[in-house]
Amino acid sequence: MDLAEIGEFGLIKRVKRLFARNKEPIVVGIGDDAAAIRFSGGRLLLLTSDLLIEGIHFSLSYSSFFQIGRKALTANISDIAAMGGVPLFTLVSLAIPEGYRVEDIEELYRGMADLSRTIGVSTIGGDTSASKKGFFISLSLIGEVEEDLILKRSGARVGDTIFLTGTMGDSAAGLELLRGGIKTKTRDKKVGYLIRRHLKPNPRLKEGRFIATNQLATSMIDISDGLAIDLSHICEESKVGAEIFEERIPLSDEIKRARVRLKKDPLFYALGGGEDYELLFTVDKKRTEEVMNLCKKGGLTVSYIGNIIPPKNGMSIIGANGKKRKLKATGYEHFRKT
Ligand code: ADP
Ligand code: MG
Repeated sequence: MDLAEIGEFGLIKRVKRLFARNKEPIVVGIGDDAAAIRFSGGRLLLLTSDLLIEGIHFSLSYSSFFQIGRKALTANISDIAAMGGVPLFTLVSLAIPEGYRVEDIEELYRGMADLSRTIGVSTIGGDTSASKKGFFISLSLIGEVEEDLILKRSGARVGDTIFLTGTMGDSAAGLELLRGGIKTKTRDKKVGYLIRRHLKPNPRLKEGRFIATNQLATSMIDISDGLAIDLSHICEESKVGAEIFEERIPLSDEIKRARVRLKKDPLFYALGGGEDYELLFTVDKKRTEEVMNLCKKGGLTVSYIGNIIPPKNGMSIIGANGKKRKLKATGYEHFRKT
C-alpha cells in the first residue's frame, strides 16, 4: 500500500495497533501530544519527540539556524504544554550534510537556548551524524505533570464547550508571504507580525499550565498541524463530534489587514494552517462562564469557538449566515496527496 493512501495519521494508527494496550507504568502511549509514564510521588513523566527536516519543515532560504533551533524546541514544549505539564530536559539529535559551518550549528543551539533559558529546560544529550542529503534535527523533550492534572485528547464530553488561546492562521499566512518572496526582516508592520509568528512562535506553556493547575479543561491539544485537523484528533480520541462558529474563530488584526496580499481568505489559514502552537481545550458547559472569568483574571486570551456534539454528527462549521457545513479535517499531514 502506498503511504499516500493512508497519510501520516493512518500510518501512526497502524503502528499503534501493533502495540498492546498501555500497561503499567505507561499511562498514555501512542496517540496523544506526549506519552506519560508513572513515576514516584503521584507524578507522570511526559515524553515527546519531533523531527524537523530541511525542505519539509523549514527552508534555509528564509529561516536562520537560530530560528530553526528555537522552533524545534517550541514544537516540543508546545506538546508538553498541551498535556498541562512542565518541560525539563531535551535530547537533541542532528544529521548534518557536508559543507556546514560550526557557527551554523552553534547558532542552532543559541536559538534553543533563547527559549530554554527562560523556561528552565536543560539539554542533557543527543546524537550527531553526517547526512548524505539535507539537514535533520530530532528533538526529544522530557517533562512532568501531576497525575490528577494531566490533560489528554480523550477527555472531551458531549455538551462541553470548545476554547482556543490566541489567534489562528498567523503562522501559515506568514509562511505564504515568505514563500512569495517577502523579506524576513520586512519593516512593513502589517505583515512583519505574521512572519514573526511563523519564524519565532512562542509555545503556550504558561497558558497550558494555568489551565491544568486550575483544572479548567476536560481535554487539550496544541494546534501544530491546523485547527480542523487537531480538533479532529480530539474528536477521534474522545469519540465525539464538534461544531464551531466561523465568526468566533479568533483572527489577528494583522491577518485581516493582510487579506489583500494573501492568496486566500484568512479563514483558510485559520482552519488549515499549522504551526500556530496555540492550545485548544474543552470545558464542562456548566463551567464556561467561570473558566472565561478565570482566564481573564489569569491574563490568558481565550475564545469560545464552539461545542462538542454527539459523534454521529462529525465535525461542522456554522457560517455567519447560520448555515452549517461539514468541516473537513484539513491541515498538514505528511505523505497525503489528497
Ligand atoms: P504532535 O503533532 O502532537 O507531535 P503527532 O501527530 O506527531 O503529534 O503524533 C501523534 C502520536 O503518535 C504521538 O503519541 C506520537 O508519539 C505517536 N507517533 C508518531 N510517530 C510515531 C512513530 N513513528 N512510531 C510510534 N509512535 C509515533
Ligand atoms: Mg501536539
